[in-house]
Formats: sequence, structure tokens, C-alpha cells
Amino acid sequence: MKTCPECGKNFNGRADKKFCSDECRCSYNDRLNRDRKKGIRWIDRILMKNYSILKECIKMGKTVTDVSYLLRMGFDFEYFTSIPGKCPESGSVWIACYTCFYSVTEEGEILIRDGENEDGRKYAQS
Ligand SMILES: [Zn+2]
Repeated sequence: MKTCPECGKNFNGRADKKFCSDECRCSYNDRLNRDRKKGIRWIDRILMKNYSILKECIKMGKTVTDVSYLLRMGFDFEYFTSIPGKCPESGSVWIACYTCFYSVTEEGEILIRDGENEDGRKYAQS
């Protein structure tokens, strides 16, 4: 006897049979996919928020700021999309959130650049 992981019913079947029915197999896999998508959407939201915060800073002309300011805005430093290269000004790397970049200096300052203009492309390639 085996137990179906979807409905909990006991059933008889071949050794490789995991679910009592096709219905249970489908609903189990559907849920698994839904959960995965939920996780991805959640990270997408964080990245989009980080991106909007950087964009907002650039719009306000705040291209030098600090960690605590970004944290207050709701920035999440754990998530980014890539590390496109080294930032000569900070001596550290550029961290990208889609087309916006930031770099943290030794003093804890944050330099922000917009990657959608000429300069940004230059940063992305360096
Ligand atoms: Zn079942």
C-alpha cells in the first residue's frame, strides 16, 4: 500500500506510481508550479522596488547618498540583477538593478548612475 501525497488516500499501484490518480498528480504539480511562480514574483517585486528607488534618486539629482537613506526608502541590498563591472570612483563594483547601477564607497557612500543614458552603457561595459 502507498499513500497519495496529494489526497492522503492509500492505494495500490506500480512501484513508480506516486499518486492515486491523474487528478491528484495534476493538482499536486499545479500547486508546486504556483508556489514557484509566487517565489519568483516576490523577488521580481523587490527588484522592481529597488529599481524605482534608484530611478527616483537619479530623478531628484541624488546621485550620492548613503545606505541608511536607501534602507529608509525600502531598498533591499540582498537583491540585484548583475555586477556589471568595477567602479573606479568607489574602488568597488557596480551593482545593477536592471538599468540602474550603484556602488558603495569605503566611507559608506552610495554612488548611483542611470544605465539608460550614454554613461550607463559605459558603466555596464567597464
Ligand atoms: Zn490522491
